[in-house]
Amino acid sequence: SDESTTIYEPQKVAIIGAGPVGALAALYFAKGGWQVTVYELRGDLRNPENRSLNFTKSINLAISERGINGLRTVDPELTETILESAIPMNGRMIHDTAGVQSSQRYDVHGRFIRSIDRSYLNGALLDELDQMSNVELKFNHNLKRLALEKSEATFEKRLSTGELETVRATADLFIGADGAHSQTRYHMMKYVRLNFSQEYIDSLWCEFHLPPSPKGDFQLDPNHLHIWPRHTFMFIALPNQDKSFTCTLFMPEDMFKDIVGPEALLKFFLTEFPDVVPLIGEENLIGDYLKNQKLPLISVKCNPYHYRNKCVILGDAAHAMVPFYGQGMNCGFEDVRTLWSHISSTESLTEALDNYTAERHQDLHIINDLAMNNYVEMRASVTSRTYLMKKNFQEFLYSWFPWMGVRTLYSMISFSNIRYSEVVRRVKRQERVLGVLAEVVAVGVVGGLGVWVWREGWWREVWKEGILIGKEWMEEAVKMLW
Ligand code: FAD
Repeated sequence: SDESTTIYEPQKVAIIGAGPVGALAALYFAKGGWQVTVYELRGDLRNPENRSLNFTKSINLAISERGINGLRTVDPELTETILESAIPMNGRMIHDTAGVQSSQRYDVHGRFIRSIDRSYLNGALLDELDQMSNVELKFNHNLKRLALEKSEATFEKRLSTGELETVRATADLFIGADGAHSQTRYHMMKYVRLNFSQEYIDSLWCEFHLPPSPKGDFQLDPNHLHIWPRHTFMFIALPNQDKSFTCTLFMPEDMFKDIVGPEALLKFFLTEFPDVVPLIGEENLIGDYLKNQKLPLISVKCNPYHYRNKCVILGDAAHAMVPFYGQGMNCGFEDVRTLWSHISSTESLTEALDNYTAERHQDLHIINDLAMNNYVEMRASVTSRTYLMKKNFQEFLYSWFPWMGVRTLYSMISFSNIRYSEVVRRVKRQERVLGVLAEVVAVGVVGGLGVWVWREGWWREVWKEGILIGKEWMEEAVKMLW
């Protein structure tokens, strides 16, 4: 069909990737009456045998307003069910090297982020899709080619025998939700002048399991995201439903290389994170470190996100980001909600996708950069007095003078649906206003003090005294020199 004249009816959409973003996109399109087929490289993650296949993904993650809003907009009931198994995290718990813990709440009005099991969330979305007659889920399908001029995709299907079979499929619209190393993006690049950049950061990540206590309780406060910030590296822990914690060590590659063997590892942990050792146990700590992969962190930026009315990329495929703002998946869910709002309100699919790229471009680049900057905040700034003073001051204003509209950057990113670009604009504006306010207060205080001293009159005596003492010192100094 000619994309410029297409006034489309719900049609056939092929979604590549059944991760959280692909599964949510499938739900939106299926509820919108489209014929949906989801093609996933791996086996069904709801089958425990397949869980270990997705080894490059963190076990749990933090879901916040943008992610929840993405879910709630399409299915409020499912959202409630999913959130029942999430654990509220009201703030950060900072652990210093002496084992002292200090809590920093996320929001003056008590809003919180939640820790959720990634497989559970993904599985719940797939369960919902399974019940819809217009959805087909096809696992073990690896996208190999995308001929957008023919609206045709070619997959390599892995059979239970291990053999590979070529499968061809057509669709009116292809959605690439196939992660940071997206094949959809790669093929779309052949059709559209797509600017693309990727960056690996110096740090790698490695996961550890912190079990429940022998009595079956949480060993740390479950309502916090625990951080052991150590300036160039950090250790974090997020709670799980079974009262364990999933911990992640983020550290420069060279430091990982320096830790060779169990002894070096124990020495490192006893020096840097001594309170962690008894909680995980020496044996488990060593086991996890040796067994678990040290994985890279990639940041991907691109633009545009679509090709005519044929193809669009969402989630990590469009904007993989380092995980330090806890926004990767949240932002991917916001992608889906935003895309659907354009599709459901515009008559031409081409126009809807054009508008989507136009709206999302700036926002996605901004959150990518904020995520990168937040690594410094998490591993270093959270322990700085200036950072805490600024945070407390902004929260004081937000709490007592809400009409001023001052909010922390974190609060606007995690607890609102304000566009990322607008959040940054507001923060810049409020910093300018607070800067002027601080100057006015400083001038007022200094001026007031001056007037008071002048009025009191005793300054004249002090002044005379000072001049006399100064004169004596000068005379002494001249004598000594001669
Ligand atoms: P993915 O989850 O990568 O899913 C892509 C799917 O596509 C996979 O199932 C894959 O098998 C499939 N696929 C790949 N290639 C093909 C192919 N050729 N053919 C067919 N299918 C294919 N985000 C948050 O919001 N909060 C957090 O707290 C958070 N913590 C994180 C911690 C760590 C350590 C990391 C690494 C990431 C974290 N993230 C977090 C980011 C989050 O994991 C991602 O943003 C999210 O998984 C993106 O979802 P997605 O569906 O776009 O991609």
